[in-house]
Amino acid sequence: MDLLKDIQKYQEHSISNRFFKHTEVQILLNNLNSEKFILTQIGHSAEGRAIHLVKYGKGATRIFLWSQMHGDEATATMALFDLFNFLEADDEQGELRNSISNNCTLYILPMVNPDGAEYFTRRNAQGIDINRDFNKRQSPEAIILAETRDQINPHFGFNLHDQSTIWSAGKSGNPATISVLAPAFDAELTVNDTRLKAMNVITLINEELQKIIPGHVGRFNDEYEPRAFGDNFQALGTSTILIEAGGYADDSEKQFIRKIFFKAILKGLEVIAANNNFNNITSSYFSIPENEKLHFQTLIKNCLLTQSNIHYTADIGLIAIEEIAEDLKSVTYTYVVEDMGDLEGFNGYEMMDASGLQITLIKPLICGQNADFVIRDGMTTILCIENGRITDKNF
Ligand SMILES: [Zn+2]
Repeated sequence: MDLLKDIQKYQEHSISNRFFKHTEVQILLNNLNSEKFILTQIGHSAEGRAIHLVKYGKGATRIFLWSQMHGDEATATMALFDLFNFLEADDEQGELRNSISNNCTLYILPMVNPDGAEYFTRRNAQGIDINRDFNKRQSPEAIILAETRDQINPHFGFNLHDQSTIWSAGKSGNPATISVLAPAFDAELTVNDTRLKAMNVITLINEELQKIIPGHVGRFNDEYEPRAFGDNFQALGTSTILIEAGGYADDSEKQFIRKIFFKAILKGLEVIAANNNFNNITSSYFSIPENEKLHFQTLIKNCLLTQSNIHYTADIGLIAIEEIAEDLKSVTYTYVVEDMGDLEGFNGYEMMDASGLQITLIKPLICGQNADFVIRDGMTTILCIENGRITDKNF
């Protein structure tokens, strides 16, 4: 894709899947060019892993970016290391780089939850969801994140996450490859100046992303979550922009999405640095379609079934539950029946039409349980799923 060609060269190649750990992050941080970046250790995780903040630029607008508050949400951390490479480079993008460094000061905290990253879990080593710990502050990571914001008092915040791959961008039929949100700061979902600025930045990020992944950007539900960081940072006057990496076809390691994510962050920085593009209206923000759950991993249409002695036709929607091996070296998927019946308007990363094919149920189809069936075309097996595991697939 041409629009991504120019960013390929900034990719940090030492990270090529989601399972990198704190040691690798430390090596990369220590190798940053000390003339451009100031690296400061700001604390330790529950298990004692050092957490660092990187400062870049000398401008008046302070921007705080943090990633991987949830240890198994690694895409943004990859994108931040691509961003470091971009900021370090010396090439034809100098004008944008200068605009960012002259107008903004960036404070970047990659991998808020290194213990979670170590075990590839959402929560930290205490089993606490850091993003529900803003008020109680029982995890060292939440204390670090909150105190760092207080010290910087940033104008803008980038709250960087991953989300499930089965969200869709409205009713477009596409997965929500990137989701965005200007979190609410109260239950009434009030739009004040702080939140409006975040909405304006998001609008311009969305315009950029539509050129690369048209119809693949969703807007997250803005229900107020009083325990979360984004909502509270917004309340404290930091215009907070949530960006979530979702799914894209054939991209389970999110190496394509990582590029889009980098582009989203960079566009956000570009418009904040330029500071003259805001139209101060909310309509374009609210026209970004809201996330819906209309997407499956696999959608099998028109299955001729017999259950309860009734012959009937139904569509079957399957999701794939990821299981990561303990050594973080392999991933297996268990296919679970998510929905069945008339699934018109839904979509799947993999789709098949089972019209005219024979389907044999090894176990009854029950929503929430492992799929267990075989689909054949005469003597040829098209799909065999045994207790949730695909053992044969020819489509
Ligand atoms: Zn998250």
